[in-house]
Amino acid sequence: MTSTKNQRAAWLEGPSATCLPSAEVAHPWRLILLGAPGVGKGTQADLLRRRLGACHLSTGDVFRAAAKSTGCEPSPAMTAALDFMRRGALVPDATVWEMVRERTACLRCRGGFILDGFPRTLGQAESLKKLMEDERLSLDAVVNYELPLSEIVDRLSGRRTCEKCKAVYHVTRQPSQTAGVCDRCGGRLFQREDDRPESVTVRMEAYQRSTAPLIEFYGKLGVLLPIAATGSPDQICTRTIAALQQAPVRAVS
Ligand code: AMP
Repeated sequence: MTSTKNQRAAWLEGPSATCLPSAEVAHPWRLILLGAPGVGKGTQADLLRRRLGACHLSTGDVFRAAAKSTGCEPSPAMTAALDFMRRGALVPDATVWEMVRERTACLRCRGGFILDGFPRTLGQAESLKKLMEDERLSLDAVVNYELPLSEIVDRLSGRRTCEKCKAVYHVTRQPSQTAGVCDRCGGRLFQREDDRPESVTVRMEAYQRSTAPLIEFYGKLGVLLPIAATGSPDQICTRTIAALQQAPVRAVS
């Protein structure tokens, strides 16, 4: 099994990075995770990645990596994208699509993929559909995580992320053993800029306006799998795998 770093490097660093997918994947699962910000898509993507062997591809992680990168001057499009991100607003489709398109090799990965945070608009969903058709890739399922709004706001405001390994905690529901320090790697835990209350409101509005319509889009394509995002992360993951096993498209091998 290759390391997490290798599986994610190509996606995070761009087309020049090499990806070494797991050789043991029996079937390449290709999944999209949908759901409002804070519903736990990132946590589920990480758990599903371990169970299914597919790469976890998050567009938000690419923007955050670009924001932290000190190596070279970001392009004007990336500078503008990071400004949208800090405010909690959606980055324009053209910028997001350029970034995804130049990572097409990751979508062809023989380990499969779990898309987290992409697509987020109908335009992005249409572009992805076209690209997958051109590449003759099929989508196994679009998992839609469902949770009441009040619960989502609580999850977002208490969320803390490790700056090194990206592990996710919650100040009361899933605290680290030592406050502010990651249990896994000892990295510093921080609150994402866009998890602050003023950005959370903007992100929820963007979700309702732009991303919620994808539920209907994928419902019509017959690939939507609604999952209740209640309970512990492990319970939600087990529920997801069970639903994937029962989905008409394909059984988990
Ligand atoms: P996330 O970690 O998925 O919540 O993404 C963090 C932020 O990155 C979002 O609030 C947006 O500003 C930006 N972003 C990530 N993915 C997309 C996308 N597919 N379309 C537009 N903006 C995105």
